[in-house]
Amino acid sequence: MKLLSLILSLIIAMPNASKASSNKKTTSEFAADYRIESLEPNLHMYLITVTVQNPDSKPTIDFILPAWRPGRYQIQNYAANVQEFKAMSGKTSLAFEKIDKQTWRVSTEGKSEVTVQYKYFAGGQIDAGNSYVGRDEIYFNGSNLFVYTDETRFKPVRLYIDYPAGWKVATQLEPTDNPHVFTAETYDDLIDAPTLVSPTMVTYQVKVKGATIYICFKDNAGLGGYKFNEETIKKDIAAVVEAQFTLMQDVPFKTYYFIYHILPISFAHGVEHKNSTSIVLGPADKMNENYGRFISITSHEFFHVWNIKRIKPKEFMPYDYTKEVYTPMLYVSEGFTSYYGDLSLVRAKVWTPKSYIDDIADGITNLQKTYGRKVQSLALSSFDAWLSGYGAGRANSTISFYSKGELIGMLLDLELRHRTKNKHSLDDVMRFLNEEFAKKNRGFSAKDFQEVVERFAGGSMQPFFDNYINGTEELPFETTLEYAGLDLQKTLSPQPYTGITSGVENDFPVVKSVVPESPGAKIGLDNGDMLIALNGNFLMKQSLSAMLSRFKANDSVKVTIQRDGKLHEKTMRLEGNYIYSISKKKNPTRLQREIFESWLACKWNDE
Ligand SMILES: [Zn+2]
Repeated sequence: MKLLSLILSLIIAMPNASKASSNKKTTSEFAADYRIESLEPNLHMYLITVTVQNPDSKPTIDFILPAWRPGRYQIQNYAANVQEFKAMSGKTSLAFEKIDKQTWRVSTEGKSEVTVQYKYFAGGQIDAGNSYVGRDEIYFNGSNLFVYTDETRFKPVRLYIDYPAGWKVATQLEPTDNPHVFTAETYDDLIDAPTLVSPTMVTYQVKVKGATIYICFKDNAGLGGYKFNEETIKKDIAAVVEAQFTLMQDVPFKTYYFIYHILPISFAHGVEHKNSTSIVLGPADKMNENYGRFISITSHEFFHVWNIKRIKPKEFMPYDYTKEVYTPMLYVSEGFTSYYGDLSLVRAKVWTPKSYIDDIADGITNLQKTYGRKVQSLALSSFDAWLSGYGAGRANSTISFYSKGELIGMLLDLELRHRTKNKHSLDDVMRFLNEEFAKKNRGFSAKDFQEVVERFAGGSMQPFFDNYINGTEELPFETTLEYAGLDLQKTLSPQPYTGITSGVENDFPVVKSVVPESPGAKIGLDNGDMLIALNGNFLMKQSLSAMLSRFKANDSVKVTIQRDGKLHEKTMRLEGNYIYSISKKKNPTRLQREIFESWLACKWNDE
C-alpha cells in the first residue's frame, strides 16, 4: 500500500483511528473499508464511502449494489436511491461506467486502493428491511446501500458509522475499541446486520443459557403511546428464546439483538438475520392489545436464527444478489418458521394450548377460503415468490407459502408423530438439518428435505409430497388432527358466501374482485359492477355485508347492478361460508394423548 493512499483511507474510513489500534486485524487485513454518514438528515441523505484494496492491480473493479435482500424474495432495485457516484484513488479521480442498473465499473489505473463514494436517499416509509436517516435516527440495512466487489466480498471488512455524541448503537456487527468502528468477517455478514443508532434508544437485556439477548426499542417506551411492561417483555422473550434453544438443542451465538421500531401507524414487518432481527410494528397506541402479534412476530423472527439463516436452501449458498434466486423451499424456510414461531409460544407457556389450537383453526378457515389453493402448489408458490409472494398477488391464482406452509408443517409434524408412535417428529427433522447441513455448511435441496423427512418417518412420504406440496390436493386436516386427539368441526358462518369483494363508490358497493366458480362468478359479475339493490332493497349508503347477513346459504337473491350506465337484474344463489374450529376428543387414546402432550409441551387437560 502506498503511503498517500494509506493516509487517505484512514481519513476517509477511520477518523479516530488511533483507538482502533487494538483491533484484532490491522488496516491491511481489511479488504474493504465502509463509511456511512448522515449527510443531510432533513433531506434523508446518507453519504457512503467504500475503499477496497486492489493487491493484484486489476485494471477494472466492478462495484455492485444488491438488487434484492435476503428475507424478501423480490427485486427491490436499491440502486434507484444512489446518486452522485464518484470514483477515486487518493486525490486522483478515476473513470467509471455503469454497465447495468446496479453495477459501476471503475478503471483502477493500476492503483492498489480504490475508493467510491455516493449519496443514498433513505427517506421513505421505514420498514424492517430498508434504510432511513432523519434528525433523530440512523437506521440501515447494508444490503440496501453498501456496494460490494467480487474480489472483496468474502474477506473481512470494516465499517465506520458517523453519529453524534451520546447516541446509542444496536447492531450485531463486531464492536471494536472505537465505538464508531465495527467489523465483519465478510460483506455478507456486514449486510446481515441491521443497525440502529438513536439518541432515544431503550435497551433491555436478558441472559438465556449463557447467551445475552438485547431487546432494543428506538424510542423510550411511553413515547408514541405504547407502554410495554419491561418485566413481561423480558420474561416472555426469554421464555421464547429458551424454548427454541431447547427445541434445536443449540445455542448458536453469544449475543443476539431484537431491534424494534414502534410506529404511530398500523404496521407489522420483521426481517431475520443471523444474530439479530429488525421488527417494525404499529400502531403504537394499540400495542398493548396487539401484544399477541408482537410476541408472535418476535418468535417467528427468532426461529429464523436456524431456519434460513443457518439451515438454507442450497440455492442460497451463496446468495446471488444480482438477480432472482429461485427455490421451491420457501414453504420450509418461511412456513415452518411460522409454524415453530407460534408453537414455541405454547411450549414457552406464553400462549395457552387452547389459543394455539384456535389459531390453527383460523388458519384452516383462511386457507379454505383461498381459491388459489386449487391453482398453485406450495412448491410453485415458493418458486414464484419473485412474482407475487407478498401482498395480494395475481387474483385467485396464488397461495401463501407462509400460511399454507405453516399448516403443512403442522400436518407433517403430526404425521411423523403418528407413524412413529410419537418417537419422532418434525423437531427431529429441523435438528438433523441443523446438525448435518447447517453446521457442515451445506444447503439442502427439495430431495434432501424429503429424504430427511422419510428418514424419521421410517418409510416413503412420496404421496404426501406429491399431493400436498407439489400438488394441490385438499389438505387432510381432519384425519391428521385426530392423531393428536383433536376433532375438526366445520360450521356455517351467519354470512353467506358470494365470492365477491367490494369497495364503495358514490355511496354504493362496487365489485372489486370475483372468485371463479363462486355465486358471483356464476351470474357473470365483473370488477366495476355497481351493486344497486338486493331483492329490491336499495344499497345506497348500506353495508353490503350487513344486507347479506339477512340471507343464508341456498337463498336465491335478485341482484340489481349498474354496468356501463344501464341497470341489469340477475338472480344469485348464495352458498355457505364455512368456519373451522378444533376441539379435544372426549376419550382420546393413549397415543393421541401422548402426541398432544409432547407436541405442545403441556398436559392433556391444560386449557
Ligand atoms: Zn419469516
